[in-house]
Amino acid sequence: MSRMSKRAVVIGAGLGGLQCAYILAKKGLQVTVLEQDANIGGCLRSFKRGNILFDTGFHYVGGLKEGQSLYPLFRYFNLLDLPWVPLDEDCFDEVIIDGRSFSFAVGHERFIDTLSKDFPSEKNALRTYVNMLKEVGEHMYDAFLPGDATDFYSTSLFARSAYDFLTDTIRDPLLRQVLSGTSLKMELNRDRLPLYTFAQINNSFIQSAWRLKGGGQQIADHLADDIHSMGGEVLTNTPVEAIEEQNGHAEGVRLRNGEFILADFIIADIHPQEVIRLMAGCTSVRNVYRRRMKGLDDTIGMLTANIRLKPGTLPYLNRNIFVHRDGTDLWTAEQTESVNSVMASFYPNQDAADLLTPMRWADVIKWADKPVGKRGEDYVEFKNRKVEQCIQLIGNRLPELRDAVDHIYSSSPLTYHRYTRTHEGSAFGIRKDWHSPFTTVLTPKTPIPNVLLTGQNLNLHGVLGVSMTSVITAAEIVGMDSLRAQILNG
Ligand SMILES: Cc1cc2nc3c(=O)[nH]c(=O)nc-3n(C[C@H](O)[C@H](O)[C@H](O)COP(=O)(O)OP(=O)(O)OC[C@H]3O[C@@H](n4cnc5c(N)ncnc54)[C@H](O)[C@@H]3O)c2cc1C
Repeated sequence: MSRMSKRAVVIGAGLGGLQCAYILAKKGLQVTVLEQDANIGGCLRSFKRGNILFDTGFHYVGGLKEGQSLYPLFRYFNLLDLPWVPLDEDCFDEVIIDGRSFSFAVGHERFIDTLSKDFPSEKNALRTYVNMLKEVGEHMYDAFLPGDATDFYSTSLFARSAYDFLTDTIRDPLLRQVLSGTSLKMELNRDRLPLYTFAQINNSFIQSAWRLKGGGQQIADHLADDIHSMGGEVLTNTPVEAIEEQNGHAEGVRLRNGEFILADFIIADIHPQEVIRLMAGCTSVRNVYRRRMKGLDDTIGMLTANIRLKPGTLPYLNRNIFVHRDGTDLWTAEQTESVNSVMASFYPNQDAADLLTPMRWADVIKWADKPVGKRGEDYVEFKNRKVEQCIQLIGNRLPELRDAVDHIYSSSPLTYHRYTRTHEGSAFGIRKDWHSPFTTVLTPKTPIPNVLLTGQNLNLHGVLGVSMTSVITAAEIVGMDSLRAQILNG
């Protein structure tokens, strides 16, 4: 049968779903992307309030220059021409710890030189640290080498502790805190976080760091436009309610409106818990698989304060700022009543800023069954209290922010849960555990051979990780060899 006659249905128009659809459409399959929400993009969604376009999740990416981590993937996905803005090369991320300011500079050598000025006796250790990050980055595309992807998933870096690597390499506890200080890119979990996650993400940002003028939604819209022009379709307001299977083979998906869509392949860019829900009637999926998926832990969620600033009151800052309360241990997964860490990000073309801080599902669960806008005054008060704590903490570095605030829109893990259906509003998907990479680092395969998983819940979260995973997932259908060549050779 020719590929032209094959039909792939993708559940979820987040980054992973759109990228898989893009690859398959380019390879000649008929693709249909089904998105439950009124808008595509998932965590890349932007939303407008007045004349300001805010981002819900996405803030910046790394590695967009030729020869760097994300470049070949974004070249393949036709995303390099978006209005990317390079962040300040001398300081793309500023970390405030114990009242002192530290700069993360772009470029491995400059990164070492900059921090060595603050920690002269740790220069060699910093080099060892950076060499490790570089090496991990250089081997990123080994994941596309021939062989079963599980070989890659079980490589030693997933089975090594990020925290142990840091403590073994860096003696000065303050420098360890500083190197962990851009912590809101991932969940820094002392007992769980694999070195792979820590190194791959940090490396890509040290290579180069970029904001997207006009918002993350453009990534999703651009992919969807290209999918349309290749003959595919992307449908919104189309929740999938079931995957239907016969004799161990998926026949298609059932929509909430009862419609059935036939599919040769199904790709699920959704949380594994949601996949299990959709597979409720699939008799070939054994309980042991269902239990395993349901037993996976999620990473923490986020509180985001999208702030409209009074025009001209706060000059644009071409860097992110991470402020940590004195004495905070950045590697403890435990959250306290007070906000301990906050990230501030700014919009290149608008009087606006975002503040982000981790937030547990447990903190908001009591409002989980209430509809949006009807969660009550106590929910609003709770969010306002947290936002106020964020403003207080960031005030250690940006005291002028408070008076510059015109209006604040806030969202919690409940918001992410509502709009992306991600389990417990988790910001980075399933928690990977270096003790058990085989069970926590999922491969695209499911017990139904023509149903595949993709997205941030698999090997790596974030734009870089999801882009890598899309290729690994799509390769299960179209084969890796030519795809790899097209991505790496341009
Ligand atoms: C607060 C926050 C800040 C972040 N900042 C950054 C950053 O600065 N840089 C970076 O690289 N990464 C960042 N990330 C991570 C990054 O945005 C995500 O890893 C990535 O966008 C996830 O994409 P995805 O396709 O895996 O999932 P999602 O974006 O969650 O997409 C899943 C889609 O599936 C849809 N869906 C769910 N169930 C169904 C169903 N039954 N039927 C149909 N559709 C369904 C959802 O509505 C959603 O659109 C951030 C994430 C968060 C939460």
